[in-house]
Amino acid sequence: MNFLQFFGKKTFSHGIHPPEYKETHHQETRRLPFPTQVILLLGQSIGKPATPIVHKGQQVERGELIAKADGFVSVPLYASVTGIIKGIELVLTARGTRESAIIIETALSSGQRQLAGHQCDIENLSRQDLIKAVWDMGMVGLGGAAFPTHVKMSIPKDCKIHTVLVNGCECEPFLTTDHRVMLEQINHLIRGITIALKCVDAPKAIIGIESNKRDVLEAIKPHLPNDSSITIEMVETKYPQGAEKMLATALLGVEIPSKSLPSAIGLAIFNVTTLAEIGRLLPQGQALIERIVTVTGDDLEKPGNYQVPLGTPLGHILDYAGFTGNEAELILGGPMMGMSAASLDVPTTKGTGGVLVLDKRATKGDDIMPCIKCSQCLQVCPINLNPAELGQLAAKRQYDVMEEKYNLNDCFDCGCCSYVCPSNIPLVQYFKIAKTLNRQRHQ
Ligand code: SF4
Ligand code: SF4
Repeated sequence: MNFLQFFGKKTFSHGIHPPEYKETHHQETRRLPFPTQVILLLGQSIGKPATPIVHKGQQVERGELIAKADGFVSVPLYASVTGIIKGIELVLTARGTRESAIIIETALSSGQRQLAGHQCDIENLSRQDLIKAVWDMGMVGLGGAAFPTHVKMSIPKDCKIHTVLVNGCECEPFLTTDHRVMLEQINHLIRGITIALKCVDAPKAIIGIESNKRDVLEAIKPHLPNDSSITIEMVETKYPQGAEKMLATALLGVEIPSKSLPSAIGLAIFNVTTLAEIGRLLPQGQALIERIVTVTGDDLEKPGNYQVPLGTPLGHILDYAGFTGNEAELILGGPMMGMSAASLDVPTTKGTGGVLVLDKRATKGDDIMPCIKCSQCLQVCPINLNPAELGQLAAKRQYDVMEEKYNLNDCFDCGCCSYVCPSNIPLVQYFKIAKTLNRQRHQ
C-alpha cells in the first residue's frame, strides 16, 4: 500500500485539477446521420498503414474488408458505410500531414446494415485464436493511443500477468464517451473483460474509475461476477489519472519502471471502451467500423455523445451538432492531449474520442514570455521530470542532452507543465518536437 492509499485517497503524486466541463455525460448516446462520404485513413493506428484491396468504382458494403494489415503491428480496415469507392488519395489529416485514405461515397438510400460476420465461439477458442480474432476485427486502443490491441494482448513469454487494469478514468476535461459506455454497455464490457482475461491469461481484473463517476460504480456493481474475478474501484478525480503509469500507482501502489511496459510488473492495461467494443463485436464476428465521439465545447446547439462512422468529416459532425460560432479552435480529442485540426474536411479515426470546439476568444493567449523559475511545472509533473530545465534545453536545441540526462523519453505528453506555466511556454510542444527529432536522428 502506498503513502497516498494509506490516507484513503487512491491516487498518484502531482498532477492537476482542471475544470471538468463534462456536462454531456448525462446524455444518452445518439447515432449521427451518415455523411455523404467517408474518408478512411489507411493509417488508423500506431503502426504500419493497412494495404488497400479495393479499387476505384468498386461497390462495398458496410463492414466489408477494404484494406488488409501490413505486418504484425498493423490492423485491417473495413468499410464504415455501404457505397462506392470514390478513390484512394492523399488527404489532409489532423496532424497537418497528407496521408493515403480510401474515400467511399455513401449510398444514402441503402439500409446501411453492417455485414453479418461469422459467429465466434469465445468459450472454445484458444488464447491465440482469440487474439487473432481481435486482430481481424481491426481493434486498437480507443482511449486515444490507437495502439493495436492484439499486440498489447501478445504478452512476452517471460512475463506473467496477474491483473488486468480496465481504464475507465477518462480524466481529460470535456470527454465523456467512456462514462456513457460504462452506463450503456455493461454486459458488453463484462464480456470484453472476460475475453481480455483469457487473452492475457490473467486471473483477475480491476475496473478503475474516477470519483466523479459514482453512477458508474452503482450501475456496474450488480453485474460483477460473484467470484471477485472482476472488481471496480474508485480513484481520485485528477489529471492525468488515466495514464497507465498513474492508474497502476493509484490502484495498486506499484510503479511501472522507466522504459518498461506494464507487463514487466505483471499488468495488462486496457481502455474500458476498447473492451466493451470487443465484447459487443467479437462474438458476432464483426469489425470496428464506428465509435462513440463526444462532441462538445462552445456554440453548439446539440452537444452530446454520438455514434459516428469512422472517416466522418468534422464538418458533417459540427453541422449536425448545430455549430453556430465563427472563430473556433477545433480539437480532436481532449484539450490536454488532443490535436488541433486545421480543416473541417479532416476525418475522424479509430482514435478520435472527442471533437471539441473552443471559442478562440476564450482560449489561453499565445504570448510566450521568459521562464520566471517559479517551479510550478516541476510541482505538477506526474513523473517528476524537470520541465523547466527541459524547456531551456529545447530552446538551445540540445535535444540529445534532454534525452540522455533529463529522461525526455519518459515524458508522455500529458501537458500538465504547459497548463500551469504562467509564462505560456508551450513546454509539451517543445518536448514532442524534441522526441520526433531524436527519433529521426536515431534512425
Ligand atoms: S508533458 Fe511531460 S514533462 Fe510535462 S508534466 Fe507531462 S510528463 Fe511531465
Ligand atoms: S512553470 Fe513556466 S515559468 Fe515556471 S519554472 Fe516552469 S517553465 Fe519556468
